[in-house]
Amino acid sequence: MSEVLESYAQGSWFTPADKGAPLADANTGETVARISKNGPDVAEMIEYARSVGGPALRALTFHQRANLLKEVAKHLMEYKDEFYALSYRTGATKRDTMVDVDGGFGTLFSFSSKGRRELPNSTVILDGPLEPLSKGGTFVAQHVYTSRPGVAVQINAFNFPVWGMLEKLAPAFLAGMPSIVKPAGQTAYLTVAVVKRMVESGLLPEGSLQLLVGSHRGLLDDLGPQDIVGFTGSAATGAILRNHPNVVSGGVQLNVEADSLNCSILGPDVAVQDPEFDLYVKQIVTEMTVKAGQKCTAIRRILVPTSMAEAVTEALTERLAKVTVGAADNPDVRMGALVSLDQREEVRKAVKALRTSSALVFGDPEEVEVTGADAESGAFMSPILLRAEPGAQEPHEVEAFGPVSTIITYDTVDEAVELAARGQGSLVGSLVTNDEDVAREVVLGVAPWHGRVLVLNRDDAKESTGHGSPLPVLVHGGPGRAGGGEELGGVRGVKHHMQRTAIQGSPDMLTAITGHWTTGSRRSVGDVHPFRKDLSQLRIGDTIASAERTVTRADIDHFAEFTGDTFYAHTDEEAAAANPLFGGIVAHGYLVVSLAAGLFVDPDPGPVLANFGVDNLRFLTPVKEDAVIKVTLTAKQITPRTNADYGEVRWDAVVTDQDGEAVATYDVLTLVAKGQE
Ligand code: NAP
Repeated sequence: MSEVLESYAQGSWFTPADKGAPLADANTGETVARISKNGPDVAEMIEYARSVGGPALRALTFHQRANLLKEVAKHLMEYKDEFYALSYRTGATKRDTMVDVDGGFGTLFSFSSKGRRELPNSTVILDGPLEPLSKGGTFVAQHVYTSRPGVAVQINAFNFPVWGMLEKLAPAFLAGMPSIVKPAGQTAYLTVAVVKRMVESGLLPEGSLQLLVGSHRGLLDDLGPQDIVGFTGSAATGAILRNHPNVVSGGVQLNVEADSLNCSILGPDVAVQDPEFDLYVKQIVTEMTVKAGQKCTAIRRILVPTSMAEAVTEALTERLAKVTVGAADNPDVRMGALVSLDQREEVRKAVKALRTSSALVFGDPEEVEVTGADAESGAFMSPILLRAEPGAQEPHEVEAFGPVSTIITYDTVDEAVELAARGQGSLVGSLVTNDEDVAREVVLGVAPWHGRVLVLNRDDAKESTGHGSPLPVLVHGGPGRAGGGEELGGVRGVKHHMQRTAIQGSPDMLTAITGHWTTGSRRSVGDVHPFRKDLSQLRIGDTIASAERTVTRADIDHFAEFTGDTFYAHTDEEAAAANPLFGGIVAHGYLVVSLAAGLFVDPDPGPVLANFGVDNLRFLTPVKEDAVIKVTLTAKQITPRTNADYGEVRWDAVVTDQDGEAVATYDVLTLVAKGQE
């Protein structure tokens, strides 16, 4: 495979006319592929995404998009061996490859699942409750998220050619935005292989994914206010993008995930014999060696109490000495190569800068023993451990994007927090402690400087996913130096790609616009009980207006005895009378809800299959003996499940008393058969 890499533009593969430059295997220096700086016409790709990909995606509901993500992930799983073989050539070991390849597919599965469970089966997301804006209830507002008619341009770093692409693609896709993926040149051959398989699957709507290889000339020149750029890479490139006129004044939304001098703090409570000490040392070695330290979340700063510096140095040195470095596909190798000889040069330069204020305590940046490969041809490097002099500045400024970390000492918890903050904003920080007071003080101190904070101790260590693993359900990003961006975080990541708008109007208008029944809008009471309607017949606004029922003292006594809930407000006249809220015996709230169910139910077998819960239950007014209640139940939201022959119906329930006062409000959740569509 040493042909020039192709781009995928406007529905076909584009082959550059020139031969391009070679991309070297990180282990052997052999050419893996060639890459050209000449790519397809970016302006045409953007136009194609906007005019073909966007409309195709937005014609699908969130659930349909989510299902496609799952199908794509399943398809890609079939080609794992192919991707693994290419991943080894980037210098990634099997362990590293799992993070990138399996981690990428896992992200697709996770977003698929979140999309189906947490988003409606429609194209609009409601944000927060209805905001009443007038006394008469005719003027209300609802915040909604809608898809932008733009394109998401995704620029990725070299270190995660698969995960990096998929973690940006999945939320954009769910949000209804077409993507143009721009992988980093050095490892683009692996991204190309994955995109080929995605395209070949035929699962993705036309225009929803395009791939731009090699060239980034003019990438932002044709973007506008509905477009988004998601960038992961160096702070220097991030700064170039921030200064692009279309970002500065053209309204292009830019999300930057840049470099980060992440720290891990050893709590002052931890002694050498504690399990936390071992956890700390192991974690540092893992983060230094996974992906040969070419990870934006790797631990660059090791913050330890001064009294523990010797012990930590010794334990780390002992473990690092056991790390085998060499060919990525050799099972005896713990740490693979850096991505390229150029990258190794960059790391060596950074180590030199760090050494102006830190002493080398383990490793030699110029020399390493190599297993299963030729040390001269591959980009191999030893793990490098440094120890900072008191007051050193460089460890808080210089990023060595390789297996390099620096020990820094502190004397007080305040100083540990202050040192963490000197990184000027990081993606992730960790604290290893078994002291809850230390945890609270440190975490609340460092949280504003971090996107994610891990607290590790003997209780969570076994199941912890580790310092360096961004998770699809958690926010990834960080303030300040880390770029100030935010990705992932489950549905939050989807919403970053959408526009939030406050819609004001009458309840009926809001119901028509959102497809979600809005309090105060029309109810339709017909001859057929809504529980006799399947999903094909049921409409938003279909309502049951129940008969009335008197809540007697005998009902309350019976309920108290039957359930064992003999709380004085339901049983003891004198005590209940003295209660400032009740002033006498009241019915149990759950009795009211149970009686309401008896009032609205249609008992015979039918399309309603199950009641799976209630949401937002509130008891608003006490129900006294002999109160007369009734219930109004209105179909509020209908969510057919894409892969089942039933769907969910959310019903608005209001129980009122003889004075028309609402005594309880809640949403009833049912599963209802689809019927004939
Ligand atoms: P980089 O040199 O900044 O490149 C990143 C991406 O930007 C590449 O795709 C590159 O394309 C592209 N690019 C470069 N100049 C551009 C321009 N003028 N306009 C548009 N795109 C441009 O970074 P890298 O060396 O690949 O990655 C290493 C850095 O990324 C490290 O500093 C690391 O900390 C950071 N990183 C951060 C995260 C995070 O999540 N925060 C994750 C991984 C890595 P070419 O390759 O074609 O030049």
